[in-house]
Amino acid sequence: MTINAHIAANLTEIRSRIARAAHEHGRGPHDVTLVAVSKTHPADAVAAAINAGQLVFGENRVQEAQAKFPDLKAAHPTLELHLIGPLQSNKVREAVALFDVIETLDREKLARALADEMEKQKRRPALFIQVNTGEEPQKAGINPSAVDDFVKLCHDELQLPVIGLMCIPPHHQHPAPHFALLREMARRNGFGCLSMGMSGDYETAIAFGATHVRIGTAIFGQR
Ligand SMILES: *Cc1c(COP(=O)(O)O)cnc(C)c1O
Repeated sequence: MTINAHIAANLTEIRSRIARAAHEHGRGPHDVTLVAVSKTHPADAVAAAINAGQLVFGENRVQEAQAKFPDLKAAHPTLELHLIGPLQSNKVREAVALFDVIETLDREKLARALADEMEKQKRRPALFIQVNTGEEPQKAGINPSAVDDFVKLCHDELQLPVIGLMCIPPHHQHPAPHFALLREMARRNGFGCLSMGMSGDYETAIAFGATHVRIGTAIFGQR
């Protein structure tokens, strides 16, 4: 098979596994959005996924996305691009201009910078708050005990368009307790969206209510 045929076949299989996992938990296939994580893979690989019907993509670096996506977005106006990696304050302008969804809102300074920039550009990408469910010191994200106050800041003071919570569980732990914790924090804050689950654990994440799964390797191959 060519690389492009592999990408199409992988997408078909993943979509059917998502539909099955959703069905098993009383949800429909369209209740879960597949975010195809194309970081490190060339624009040709993204184009192959688009040809196979995929229109939602995730990138973890602003600069890499700027190099790959403007032409693809111009050619496919319904393409939806998610930022899933850390956002530095000095890249906020570019991020607000390019991304449709920013999943990595993780600190007050960034919340304020996003509010200012959205006002300037009159463009409001939807946001997820990243939660450091494992409280890992080296990992980005709001600690679970600080989430409710941070949500209040984002909603009440800054009126940011936050739609949900996102997490990346610790590498060597079972992800289920982290997914359950994220779901509970989303429930009590009234959020409908949960971004959790990657190539190795997306079916588990769907069992715990994921509305967005971020899948790279299982679609595009090893990085
Ligand atoms: C790279 C990445 C993914 C995709 O991981 P895979 O294991 O390749 O599916 C998901 N989420 C984030 C935040 C990532 O950086």
